[in-house]
Amino acid sequence: MQKSSQLPDKEGFFGKYGGKFLPPQLEAAFTEIIEAYGRISRDASFINELRYIRKHFQGRPTPVYHAKKLSEKNGGAQIYLKREDLNHTGAHKINHCMGEGLLARFMGKKKIIAETGAGQHGVALATAAAYFGLECEVHMGEVDIVKQAPNVSRMKLLGAKVIPVTHGLKTLKEAVDSAFEAYLADYQNSIYCIGSVVGPHPFPMMVRDFQAIVGVEAREQFVEMTGELPDAICACVGGGSNAMGIFTGFLDDPCNIYGVEPLGVGTKIGEHAATMTYGTEGIIHAFRCYLLQNEDGSPAPVYSCASGLDYPGVGPEHCYLKDTGRVEYVTCSDEECKHAFFKLSRQEGIIPAIESSHAVAFALKKAREMGSGTILVNLSGRGDKDLDYVLEHWGTGEEDA
Ligand SMILES: *Cc1c(COP(=O)(O)O)cnc(C)c1O
Repeated sequence: MQKSSQLPDKEGFFGKYGGKFLPPQLEAAFTEIIEAYGRISRDASFINELRYIRKHFQGRPTPVYHAKKLSEKNGGAQIYLKREDLNHTGAHKINHCMGEGLLARFMGKKKIIAETGAGQHGVALATAAAYFGLECEVHMGEVDIVKQAPNVSRMKLLGAKVIPVTHGLKTLKEAVDSAFEAYLADYQNSIYCIGSVVGPHPFPMMVRDFQAIVGVEAREQFVEMTGELPDAICACVGGGSNAMGIFTGFLDDPCNIYGVEPLGVGTKIGEHAATMTYGTEGIIHAFRCYLLQNEDGSPAPVYSCASGLDYPGVGPEHCYLKDTGRVEYVTCSDEECKHAFFKLSRQEGIIPAIESSHAVAFALKKAREMGSGTILVNLSGRGDKDLDYVLEHWGTGEEDA
């Protein structure tokens, strides 16, 4: 097995996953990004400026917190949380959006273009654009625009232009196509920014590199707090960026690592988004990965109570880590996620994002199974954005007090 830090290869492959399966018209644009990132990411002024931004704008380092009451009430291993919910804007996505924005500025681009589904990536990117004084164009399906109205307002307040996508199912897939088209039409002036460790090379590598700060900090903080490494580490996996961020810090250590996927309401197609568990090899958004797909290879419908996790593909490095056995991929249902959401809120005073609650739910199960030892959870985001959903569907959680 190759060390993860040596991957991907020059063509962007992690084993057989990844790559860039682009229409020929986009080859030149992506070659330019690969070349620029290779050069700029080693430049001292780029590194220093990113460091400054993380500290003074985002509020890094985010703490590691020992959830003593949650651990005690649950029984078993001690649970620790890497508090990515305390980032400016409330989640880990800002880690790679600020990196992408800074890259855009170093490349002399005036505009950043992206798609968004639930709107979280759009908001983080619009924040980066405002910081760097770049134009920002976010493509979003008309259906999602209605469903995610507060995030649409946030993007507009931050100065971004939200482009409604009106064809097909009017959701994420069409938004991706629309963003690619806009980028193709104007790639001299603009850069395309993806929202996770997915898409064509170099994005899975670049987004991982920008997120790796999470694992670097967490490892150092955990060792300082306890004198040891955690026995287990877990994170939720949608596209896989917050998980790659924390995993990268521990891949060479003797720790058990778990990626947690959403099992939704069942194991049938359309009831979940557990790509690693139920998917098969395929191509989506110009890269190869495990994919929940129909017989004709088109992406299958997916569902999760966490809108940030309902993606039918998954980052190529995760696929590689699954095949090599270094990381184990597991699932948590909506129901398990719900109880974890309320337990963390009521027992620790931390309202987690529904996405992150999947990782907490697995940690609670695993901690009981382990009986003792430690488990470090990447708490990818805060739950403020989810309050309407929670109150409407779940109530206020008295049984989890
Ligand atoms: C978007 C999002 C996720 C899922 O994205 P990954 O790329 O898998 O990390 C997880 N948690 C939160 C809070 C999110 O906003």
